[in-house]
Amino acid sequence: MARKIKKDVTLGVQLKFICGECRIPQKHVVLTSYEDCIAEEGFDSQTSYQIVQCLNCEALCFRSEYEDSESHSYDMSTGEDYYWSTEHIFPHRTAGRFKIKDSFTLPPGVGKAYDELVSAMNAGQTILAGLGIRVVLESVCVDLKAEGDNLFKKINGLLKLNAITESDVSILHKLRALGNTAAHEAKPSSPEQLDLAMNVIEHLLLGTYIHPRLASSVFRS
Ligand SMILES: [Zn+2]
Repeated sequence: MARKIKKDVTLGVQLKFICGECRIPQKHVVLTSYEDCIAEEGFDSQTSYQIVQCLNCEALCFRSEYEDSESHSYDMSTGEDYYWSTEHIFPHRTAGRFKIKDSFTLPPGVGKAYDELVSAMNAGQTILAGLGIRVVLESVCVDLKAEGDNLFKKINGLLKLNAITESDVSILHKLRALGNTAAHEAKPSSPEQLDLAMNVIEHLLLGTYIHPRLASSVFRS
């Protein structure tokens, strides 16, 4: 096996994909890249590791692209060769879930759990995302010191603290059940379940932490 590291093979190349800050597909340009090229007998591969910038908002992200001598095929209908490659973009943004605005102001424990939940959602890790919903819920209960020795009691404890409403309680118990299934049966949640669960969790975070903080800075008396 022969390995050769090249530099800036893809410098200046423009690519269109979803920008994590603009939240819509945007043109990006490769600012710098390193290429890991491996040659074996009858098989070559190349992985390009790129620092990429959005041409609209200038945000930076990381992209890698893998291709090898077998990632092309002959298309009988057109009579032409076609090529494909495997792309990864970090931070993940494929599923289109973006963090709620001002999520950096969440208490550290809650914020960390929420960050990991969004990453799991966007990476399509449905078992971990189901589990993450439960972890965020637990972290909110811990932060607000909701009473109870298990999550069931703690959710009811949130109601006693007036942190949530009666109708929130029944939804949160459903989310708790979702996390249980993910944890005990390693069963992935459906995209629809996760999407609704994320909306409820974000509603809870906004109402409990973000809006009160914003209100006190916007309406300073
Ligand atoms: Zn952008």
